[in-house]
Amino acid sequence: MPFANRTAHLRPEGAYQVLARANQMESAGREIIHLEIGQPDYPTFENVSQAGIDAILSGKTRYTPPAGMPALRAAIAEDAGRRRGIEVHPEEVVVSPGGKPNLFFPTLALVEPGDEVIYPDPGFPTYEAMIKVAGGVPVAVPLLEDNSFSFDLDAFDRLLSPRTKMIILNSPSNPTGGVIPLADLEHIAAQAIRIGSWVMSDEIYTRLVYDGLEAPSIVALPGMQERTIIVDGFSKTYSMTGWRLGYGIMPKDLADTVDLLLTHSIGSTAHFTQFAGVAALTGPQDMVDVMVEEYQRRRDMIVEGLNSIPGFKCQKPQGAFYAFPNITGSGLKSTELANLILERGGVALLPGNSFGKYGEGYLRLSYANSIENIEKGLERINQVLHELTK
Ligand code: PMP
Repeated sequence: MPFANRTAHLRPEGAYQVLARANQMESAGREIIHLEIGQPDYPTFENVSQAGIDAILSGKTRYTPPAGMPALRAAIAEDAGRRRGIEVHPEEVVVSPGGKPNLFFPTLALVEPGDEVIYPDPGFPTYEAMIKVAGGVPVAVPLLEDNSFSFDLDAFDRLLSPRTKMIILNSPSNPTGGVIPLADLEHIAAQAIRIGSWVMSDEIYTRLVYDGLEAPSIVALPGMQERTIIVDGFSKTYSMTGWRLGYGIMPKDLADTVDLLLTHSIGSTAHFTQFAGVAALTGPQDMVDVMVEEYQRRRDMIVEGLNSIPGFKCQKPQGAFYAFPNITGSGLKSTELANLILERGGVALLPGNSFGKYGEGYLRLSYANSIENIEKGLERINQVLHELTK
């Protein structure tokens, strides 16, 4: 019996596929360096874990309102609003198990079959998947390597149409690490207002930025809060991927509709997880700074190492924990090279084209790993490339 059409296009995330092959090689006795996975290698901060444990022990193991506990919605409204210089009311905050449902459900709430949705390519694979499930038409905008991997604005302007319902931004970006410059956000905001479209701004990496930089948010520009959905969460900032805690911030009427979609799908986010979230937001933030400083050290090392490999050219990413080297100088396609590096060098990483067709010619390496492993990984990649060019 055939499955519904709306799922026919769905594919696994590239990272899970490479991880499966790497695990297979490991069980056969190979030692693999994992640079494919996009999650912090830090444990959840102790005060946050303790708050979760205390919550479980004191019976915080019940349903909560679908859009989240009032105390958590209030803490998010305060924190997210202050950091972006806007006023956020708790009823504009929707809590979810991870940021992903707050990508998916607002898309379902807004996009009619046939509506066009602009999204970055290379970009997080969930964007294209959710647009298609909603029946929308995904419109990929290529990114410019030498402008922080921000949108190619000429292409963006050309691809806008009267059917553009939503524009998806991701800054800092997975997979490029790029931070969209303010001038580009201003251009995109002016166009969104002109054509009356929504903007979904995936800011899940917003606290992971380097060199003292801050990633500007489009929501803070005049006229934007009423048409913007901010997506953020706890996975990356507080090293909480497995706790499943994220949120969206959006106009109240949209939040109410997303609340209903949550009601009839996930029900609610885990009760004790939400207590851990309150502790994360209201507790000391110094561990975030420590983590960011360490990621910066790793970034500097991996970028320098990648640039010394024949055929590789790597920009210095300003955020997230991914390096995205251009490997066209190697003469190989992304998938071919990623496979060679895994099979011959025992280093798991992702081909750029697993993030869309414009990712061809790149690799993605996650540097959420120890300096020692990154060093070892670079050495092995170097060796594979040297053998190829012999
Ligand atoms: N957006 C981007 C760009 C991501 O890379 C991720 C995680 N890989 C997410 C959203 C979702 O993260 P989570 O559901 O764990 O909050």
